Amino acid sequence: MDGGFNTRAIHAGQDPDPATGAVIPPLHLTTTYKQDGVGGLRGGYEYSRSGNPTRTALQEALAALEEGTTGLAFASGLAAEDTLLRTVCEPGSHVVLGGDAYGGTFRLISRVAAPWGVEHSPADLNDLDALRSVMRPTTRVIWCETPTNPLLNIADIARLAEFAHEHGALLVVDNTFASPYLQRPLTLGADVVVHSTTKYLGGHSDVVGGALVVGDDELADRLAYHQNAMGAVNGPFDAWLVLRGIKTLGVRMDRHGANAACIAEFLLGHPAVGSVLYPGLPDHPGHDVAARQMSGFGGMLSFRLTGGEEAALRVCERARVFTLAESLGGVESLIEHPARMTHASAAGSPLEVPADLVRLSVGIEDAEDLLADLDQALA
Ligand SMILES: *Cc1c(COP(=O)(O)O)cnc(C)c1O
Repeated sequence: MDGGFNTRAIHAGQDPDPATGAVIPPLHLTTTYKQDGVGGLRGGYEYSRSGNPTRTALQEALAALEEGTTGLAFASGLAAEDTLLRTVCEPGSHVVLGGDAYGGTFRLISRVAAPWGVEHSPADLNDLDALRSVMRPTTRVIWCETPTNPLLNIADIARLAEFAHEHGALLVVDNTFASPYLQRPLTLGADVVVHSTTKYLGGHSDVVGGALVVGDDELADRLAYHQNAMGAVNGPFDAWLVLRGIKTLGVRMDRHGANAACIAEFLLGHPAVGSVLYPGLPDHPGHDVAARQMSGFGGMLSFRLTGGEEAALRVCERARVFTLAESLGGVESLIEHPARMTHASAAGSPLEVPADLVRLSVGIEDAEDLLADLDQALA
Protein backbone atom coordinates (compact mmCIF):
# COMPACT_ATOMS: atom_id res chain seq x y z
CA MET A 1 0.00 0.00 0.00
CA ASP A 2 1.54 3.30 -1.09
CA GLY A 3 0.61 6.81 -0.07
CA GLY A 4 1.22 9.04 2.92
CA PHE A 5 0.97 7.95 6.53
CA ASN A 6 -2.71 8.78 7.04
CA THR A 7 -3.71 7.13 3.78
CA ARG A 8 -1.88 3.98 4.80
CA ALA A 9 -3.46 4.12 8.28
CA ILE A 10 -6.92 4.07 6.73
CA HIS A 11 -6.34 1.70 3.81
CA ALA A 12 -3.31 -0.60 4.29
CA GLY A 13 -4.50 -4.19 4.76
CA GLN A 14 -8.08 -2.93 4.62
CA ASP A 15 -9.32 -3.29 1.06
CA PRO A 16 -13.11 -3.61 0.86
CA ASP A 17 -14.21 -7.21 1.50
CA PRO A 18 -14.22 -9.04 -1.88
CA ALA A 19 -17.33 -11.09 -0.99
CA THR A 20 -19.64 -8.25 0.10
CA GLY A 21 -17.90 -4.95 -0.54
CA ALA A 22 -17.92 -4.18 3.19
CA VAL A 23 -15.74 -1.09 3.53
CA ILE A 24 -14.55 -2.05 7.00
CA PRO A 25 -12.71 -5.38 7.45
CA PRO A 26 -15.23 -7.90 8.82
CA LEU A 27 -14.85 -9.35 12.28
CA HIS A 28 -13.99 -12.97 11.52
CA LEU A 29 -15.22 -14.73 14.67
CA THR A 30 -14.25 -18.21 13.60
CA THR A 31 -11.71 -20.67 14.89
CA THR A 32 -11.56 -22.87 11.81
CA TYR A 33 -11.99 -22.75 8.03
CA LYS A 34 -13.61 -25.13 5.54
CA GLN A 35 -11.06 -26.86 3.30
CA ASP A 36 -11.81 -27.48 -0.36
CA GLY A 37 -10.51 -31.04 -0.26
CA VAL A 38 -7.79 -32.08 2.19
CA GLY A 39 -5.18 -29.30 2.38
CA GLY A 40 -7.23 -27.09 0.03
CA LEU A 41 -6.99 -23.93 2.11
CA ARG A 42 -8.70 -20.70 1.02
CA GLY A 43 -6.18 -17.85 1.35
CA GLY A 44 -3.96 -20.00 3.56
CA TYR A 45 -6.42 -20.01 6.48
CA GLU A 46 -6.67 -23.21 8.48
CA TYR A 47 -7.03 -22.40 12.21
CA SER A 48 -7.29 -19.00 13.93
CA ARG A 49 -4.23 -19.28 16.18
CA SER A 50 -2.21 -19.65 12.99
CA GLY A 51 -4.10 -17.07 10.99
CA ASN A 52 -7.30 -15.02 11.04
CA PRO A 53 -8.28 -12.48 8.37
CA THR A 54 -9.09 -9.71 10.88
CA ARG A 55 -5.66 -10.18 12.45
CA THR A 56 -4.06 -10.26 9.00
CA ALA A 57 -5.61 -6.87 8.22
CA LEU A 58 -4.14 -5.41 11.42
CA GLN A 59 -0.74 -6.98 10.80
CA GLU A 60 -0.56 -5.55 7.29
CA ALA A 61 -1.56 -2.11 8.56
CA LEU A 62 1.11 -2.23 11.29
CA ALA A 63 3.81 -3.22 8.79
CA ALA A 64 2.78 -0.38 6.45
CA LEU A 65 2.79 2.22 9.24
CA GLU A 66 6.22 1.24 10.56
CA GLU A 67 7.62 0.85 7.01
CA GLY A 68 8.51 -2.77 7.73
CA THR A 69 7.71 -5.86 5.68
CA THR A 70 5.99 -7.94 8.37
CA GLY A 71 3.78 -7.08 11.32
CA LEU A 72 2.71 -9.61 13.96
CA ALA A 73 -0.05 -8.97 16.48
CA PHE A 74 -0.24 -10.36 20.01
CA ALA A 75 -2.52 -10.47 23.05
CA SER A 76 -0.52 -7.75 24.84
CA GLY A 77 2.69 -5.77 24.55
CA LEU A 78 4.36 -8.15 26.98
CA ALA A 79 3.19 -11.20 25.01
CA ALA A 80 4.89 -9.67 21.96
CA GLU A 81 8.06 -9.03 23.95
CA ASP A 82 8.09 -12.57 25.36
CA THR A 83 7.69 -14.06 21.91
CA LEU A 84 10.52 -11.89 20.60
CA LEU A 85 12.91 -12.76 23.45
CA ARG A 86 12.26 -16.49 23.11
CA THR A 87 12.81 -16.27 19.36
CA VAL A 88 16.14 -14.43 19.37
CA CYS A 89 17.64 -15.59 22.69
CA GLU A 90 18.63 -18.97 24.08
CA PRO A 91 20.20 -20.04 27.39
CA GLY A 92 23.48 -18.11 27.68
CA SER A 93 22.27 -15.14 25.64
CA HIS A 94 22.70 -11.65 27.01
CA VAL A 95 20.39 -8.64 26.70
CA VAL A 96 21.35 -5.00 27.29
CA LEU A 97 18.44 -2.99 28.60
CA GLY A 98 18.15 0.80 28.57
CA GLY A 99 18.30 2.39 32.04
CA ASP A 100 14.64 3.31 32.47
CA ALA A 101 12.82 0.73 30.40
CA TYR A 102 9.14 0.00 31.00
CA GLY A 103 8.83 -1.79 34.35
CA GLY A 104 7.05 -4.79 32.82
CA THR A 105 9.87 -5.24 30.31
CA PHE A 106 12.42 -5.12 33.12
CA ARG A 107 10.37 -7.67 35.07
CA LEU A 108 10.05 -9.98 32.05
CA ILE A 109 13.79 -9.93 31.39
CA SER A 110 15.02 -9.96 35.00
CA ARG A 111 12.45 -12.32 36.58
CA VAL A 112 11.02 -14.50 33.83
CA ALA A 113 13.80 -14.85 31.24
CA ALA A 114 16.65 -14.96 33.78
CA PRO A 115 15.73 -18.38 35.27
CA TRP A 116 15.89 -19.77 31.71
CA GLY A 117 19.50 -18.62 31.41
CA VAL A 118 19.07 -15.28 29.62
CA GLU A 119 21.34 -12.72 31.27
CA HIS A 120 20.94 -8.96 31.21
CA SER A 121 22.75 -5.72 32.01
CA PRO A 122 21.18 -2.31 32.45
CA ALA A 123 22.98 0.51 30.62
CA ASP A 124 22.71 4.20 29.85
CA LEU A 125 21.96 4.15 26.12
CA ASN A 126 23.32 7.68 25.73
CA ASP A 127 26.78 6.72 26.95
CA LEU A 128 28.51 4.58 24.28
CA ASP A 129 31.55 3.94 26.51
CA ALA A 130 29.33 2.60 29.28
CA LEU A 131 27.46 0.58 26.69
CA ARG A 132 30.68 -0.85 25.23
CA SER A 133 31.75 -1.97 28.71
CA VAL A 134 28.64 -4.15 29.18
CA MET A 135 28.63 -5.75 25.72
CA ARG A 136 29.54 -9.45 25.59
CA PRO A 137 30.13 -11.87 22.71
CA THR A 138 26.76 -13.38 23.70
CA THR A 139 24.84 -10.06 23.55
CA ARG A 140 21.91 -10.71 21.22
CA VAL A 141 19.79 -7.65 21.86
CA ILE A 142 20.08 -4.00 22.81
CA TRP A 143 16.63 -3.02 24.07
CA CYS A 144 15.81 0.65 23.66
CA GLU A 145 12.83 2.79 24.57
CA THR A 146 12.67 6.36 23.34
CA PRO A 147 11.06 8.48 24.74
CA THR A 148 11.26 6.58 28.04
CA ASN A 149 8.65 6.13 30.69
CA PRO A 150 8.24 8.16 32.89
CA LEU A 151 11.38 10.32 32.59
CA LEU A 152 11.00 11.10 28.85
CA ASN A 153 14.67 10.43 28.10
CA ILE A 154 15.65 10.25 24.43
CA ALA A 155 18.06 7.78 22.81
CA ASP A 156 19.65 8.20 19.36
CA ILE A 157 18.20 5.28 17.38
CA ALA A 158 20.48 5.56 14.31
CA ARG A 159 23.63 5.67 16.45
CA LEU A 160 22.47 2.73 18.58
CA ALA A 161 21.61 0.68 15.50
CA GLU A 162 25.11 1.16 14.15
CA PHE A 163 26.61 0.28 17.53
CA ALA A 164 24.45 -2.84 17.92
CA HIS A 165 25.33 -4.09 14.45
CA GLU A 166 29.08 -3.55 15.00
CA HIS A 167 28.66 -5.90 17.98
CA GLY A 168 26.53 -8.47 16.18
CA ALA A 169 23.41 -7.62 18.21
CA LEU A 170 19.88 -6.64 17.21
CA LEU A 171 18.50 -3.23 18.10
CA VAL A 172 14.95 -3.55 19.44
CA VAL A 173 13.00 -0.30 19.85
CA ASP A 174 9.86 -0.11 21.97
CA ASN A 175 8.01 2.58 19.97
CA THR A 176 4.92 2.68 22.19
CA PHE A 177 5.37 6.27 23.45
CA ALA A 178 6.05 7.88 20.06
CA SER A 179 3.80 5.73 17.86
CA PRO A 180 4.74 5.22 14.19
CA TYR A 181 3.13 8.56 13.34
CA LEU A 182 5.96 10.40 15.09
CA GLN A 183 8.87 7.95 14.79
CA ARG A 184 9.73 4.97 12.57
CA PRO A 185 12.72 3.15 14.07
CA LEU A 186 13.13 0.62 11.21
CA THR A 187 13.92 3.50 8.84
CA LEU A 188 16.67 4.59 11.26
CA GLY A 189 18.32 1.15 11.28
CA ALA A 190 16.52 -0.67 14.12
CA ASP A 191 15.83 -4.39 13.57
CA VAL A 192 12.60 -4.86 15.51
CA VAL A 193 9.87 -2.46 16.62
CA VAL A 194 7.79 -3.43 19.65
CA HIS A 195 4.42 -1.93 20.52
CA SER A 196 1.93 -2.05 23.27
CA THR A 197 -1.05 -1.41 20.96
CA THR A 198 -2.97 -0.90 24.20
CA LYS A 199 -1.69 2.69 24.11
CA TYR A 200 -1.71 5.13 21.18
CA LEU A 201 -2.38 2.62 18.38
CA GLY A 202 -5.62 1.43 20.01
CA GLY A 203 -6.01 4.94 21.35
CA HIS A 204 -9.30 4.60 23.24
CA SER A 205 -8.34 2.70 26.41
CA ASP A 206 -10.61 -0.18 25.46
CA VAL A 207 -8.28 -2.94 24.23
CA VAL A 208 -5.04 -4.64 25.38
CA GLY A 209 -2.70 -5.75 22.61
CA GLY A 210 0.86 -5.88 21.34
CA ALA A 211 2.83 -6.02 18.13
CA LEU A 212 6.20 -6.70 16.55
CA VAL A 213 7.25 -5.21 13.21
CA VAL A 214 10.40 -6.18 11.28
CA GLY A 215 11.90 -5.59 7.85
CA ASP A 216 14.00 -8.75 7.54
CA ASP A 217 12.30 -11.79 6.00
CA GLU A 218 14.38 -14.42 7.78
CA LEU A 219 13.69 -12.86 11.20
CA ALA A 220 10.03 -12.40 10.21
CA ASP A 221 9.72 -16.12 9.45
CA ARG A 222 11.22 -17.11 12.79
CA LEU A 223 8.96 -14.69 14.69
CA ALA A 224 5.87 -15.85 12.80
CA TYR A 225 6.77 -19.46 13.59
CA HIS A 226 7.00 -18.59 17.31
CA GLN A 227 3.82 -16.49 17.20
CA ASN A 228 1.94 -19.63 16.14
CA ALA A 229 3.96 -22.09 18.21
CA MET A 230 3.64 -20.06 21.43
CA GLY A 231 0.10 -18.92 20.67
CA ALA A 232 -0.08 -15.54 22.45
CA VAL A 233 -2.21 -14.06 19.66
CA ASN A 234 -4.96 -11.47 20.06
CA GLY A 235 -8.57 -12.35 19.33
CA PRO A 236 -10.31 -10.98 16.20
CA PHE A 237 -12.36 -8.37 18.08
CA ASP A 238 -9.24 -7.02 19.78
CA ALA A 239 -7.49 -6.86 16.41
CA TRP A 240 -10.51 -5.05 14.95
CA LEU A 241 -10.54 -2.45 17.75
CA VAL A 242 -6.85 -1.66 17.21
CA LEU A 243 -7.45 -1.38 13.45
CA ARG A 244 -10.25 1.09 14.07
CA GLY A 245 -8.05 3.10 16.41
CA ILE A 246 -5.21 3.23 13.89
CA LYS A 247 -7.37 5.04 11.33
CA THR A 248 -7.33 8.23 13.45
CA LEU A 249 -3.79 7.89 14.83
CA GLY A 250 -2.45 10.89 12.89
CA VAL A 251 -5.13 13.39 13.92
CA ARG A 252 -5.05 12.13 17.48
CA MET A 253 -1.26 12.43 17.77
CA ASP A 254 -1.36 15.97 16.38
CA ARG A 255 -3.83 17.01 19.09
CA HIS A 256 -2.03 15.03 21.85
CA GLY A 257 1.19 16.86 20.92
CA ALA A 258 -0.40 20.32 20.65
CA ASN A 259 -2.09 19.93 24.04
CA ALA A 260 1.09 18.60 25.67
CA ALA A 261 3.09 21.57 24.32
CA CYS A 262 0.55 24.01 25.87
CA ILE A 263 0.70 22.20 29.18
CA ALA A 264 4.52 22.08 29.19
CA GLU A 265 4.57 25.85 28.68
CA PHE A 266 2.03 26.40 31.46
CA LEU A 267 3.84 24.15 33.96
CA LEU A 268 7.21 25.77 33.25
CA GLY A 269 5.84 29.06 34.52
CA HIS A 270 4.13 27.63 37.62
CA PRO A 271 5.79 28.25 41.00
CA ALA A 272 4.79 24.83 42.42
CA VAL A 273 6.62 23.04 39.59
CA GLY A 274 10.36 22.40 39.89
CA SER A 275 11.00 20.97 36.44
CA VAL A 276 9.12 19.81 33.35
CA LEU A 277 10.26 16.72 31.44
CA TYR A 278 9.08 17.02 27.84
CA PRO A 279 11.33 16.47 24.81
CA GLY A 280 9.65 19.34 22.97
CA LEU A 281 11.23 21.86 25.37
CA PRO A 282 14.43 23.34 23.90
CA ASP A 283 16.44 22.76 27.10
CA HIS A 284 15.46 19.08 27.39
CA PRO A 285 18.76 17.14 27.10
CA GLY A 286 17.35 14.98 24.28
CA HIS A 287 15.64 17.78 22.39
CA ASP A 288 17.97 17.88 19.39
CA VAL A 289 17.96 14.12 18.86
CA ALA A 290 14.18 14.01 19.32
CA ALA A 291 13.74 16.84 16.81
CA ARG A 292 15.85 14.87 14.32
CA GLN A 293 14.26 11.44 14.67
CA MET A 294 10.66 12.34 15.56
CA SER A 295 8.20 14.46 13.60
CA GLY A 296 6.59 15.73 16.84
CA PHE A 297 7.13 15.30 20.57
CA GLY A 298 4.05 13.34 21.58
CA GLY A 299 1.53 13.51 24.38
CA MET A 300 3.50 12.20 27.36
CA LEU A 301 4.88 14.64 29.87
CA SER A 302 6.19 14.44 33.45
CA PHE A 303 6.92 17.12 36.01
CA ARG A 304 8.43 17.40 39.46
CA LEU A 305 6.89 19.34 42.34
CA THR A 306 8.91 21.70 44.50
CA GLY A 307 6.75 20.52 47.43
CA GLY A 308 8.02 16.91 47.16
CA GLU A 309 6.05 13.67 47.30
CA GLU A 310 3.17 15.08 49.31
CA ALA A 311 2.56 17.83 46.74
CA ALA A 312 2.77 15.29 43.90
CA LEU A 313 0.17 13.05 45.55
CA ARG A 314 -2.11 16.03 46.18
CA VAL A 315 -2.06 17.12 42.52
CA CYS A 316 -2.97 13.59 41.44
CA GLU A 317 -5.86 13.48 43.90
CA ARG A 318 -7.22 16.95 43.12
CA ALA A 319 -7.27 16.65 39.32
CA ARG A 320 -10.78 16.29 37.89
CA VAL A 321 -10.54 16.38 34.07
CA PHE A 322 -7.33 14.34 34.30
CA THR A 323 -8.37 10.92 35.59
CA LEU A 324 -6.14 9.33 38.21
CA ALA A 325 -5.21 6.06 36.50
CA GLU A 326 -2.36 3.99 35.09
CA SER A 327 -1.81 3.40 31.36
CA LEU A 328 -1.60 6.05 28.64
CA GLY A 329 -2.27 6.87 25.03
CA GLY A 330 -6.06 7.13 25.09
CA VAL A 331 -8.15 10.13 24.04
CA GLU A 332 -8.83 11.01 27.70
CA SER A 333 -6.20 12.70 29.86
CA LEU A 334 -4.71 10.64 32.68
CA ILE A 335 -2.57 11.60 35.66
CA GLU A 336 -0.54 9.32 37.89
CA HIS A 337 2.19 9.11 40.51
CA PRO A 338 4.83 6.76 39.02
CA ALA A 339 6.71 6.06 42.26
CA ARG A 340 3.56 4.63 43.91
CA MET A 341 1.71 3.40 40.84
CA THR A 342 3.25 2.32 37.51
CA HIS A 343 6.81 2.17 38.85
CA ALA A 344 6.19 0.97 42.41
CA SER A 345 7.92 -2.32 41.62
CA ALA A 346 11.09 -0.39 40.67
CA ALA A 347 11.59 0.90 44.25
CA GLY A 348 15.13 0.12 45.36
CA SER A 349 16.25 -0.91 41.83
CA PRO A 350 18.30 1.11 39.33
CA LEU A 351 14.94 2.03 37.76
CA GLU A 352 13.56 3.80 40.85
CA VAL A 353 11.84 7.10 39.96
CA PRO A 354 11.69 10.30 42.06
CA ALA A 355 8.81 10.55 44.54
CA ASP A 356 8.03 14.17 43.57
CA LEU A 357 7.28 13.14 39.96
CA VAL A 358 3.84 13.27 38.32
CA ARG A 359 3.21 11.76 34.87
CA LEU A 360 0.55 12.99 32.46
CA SER A 361 -0.87 11.21 29.45
CA VAL A 362 -2.28 14.31 27.78
CA GLY A 363 -5.53 13.56 25.99
CA ILE A 364 -7.34 15.35 23.20
CA GLU A 365 -9.86 17.35 25.25
CA ASP A 366 -9.92 21.16 24.90
CA ALA A 367 -6.57 22.57 26.03
CA GLU A 368 -8.16 25.32 28.14
CA ASP A 369 -10.05 22.75 30.23
CA LEU A 370 -6.86 20.77 30.82
CA LEU A 371 -4.95 23.91 31.83
CA ALA A 372 -7.73 25.04 34.17
CA ASP A 373 -7.78 21.61 35.78
CA LEU A 374 -4.03 21.58 36.43
CA ASP A 375 -4.22 25.14 37.69
CA GLN A 376 -6.80 24.26 40.34
CA ALA A 377 -5.02 20.99 41.23
CA LEU A 378 -1.73 22.84 41.77
CA ALA A 379 -3.28 25.72 43.74
C1 LIG B 1 2.24 -0.63 28.35
C2 LIG B 1 3.61 -0.77 27.84
C3 LIG B 1 4.17 -2.04 27.56
C4 LIG B 1 3.45 -3.33 27.87
O1 LIG B 1 2.32 -3.48 27.10
P1 LIG B 1 0.99 -4.29 27.59
O2 LIG B 1 0.08 -4.13 26.44
O3 LIG B 1 0.53 -3.63 28.85
O4 LIG B 1 1.42 -5.70 27.82
C5 LIG B 1 5.43 -2.07 27.02
N1 LIG B 1 6.13 -0.96 26.77
C6 LIG B 1 5.65 0.27 27.05
C7 LIG B 1 6.47 1.46 26.76
C8 LIG B 1 4.37 0.40 27.59
O5 LIG B 1 3.90 1.62 27.87
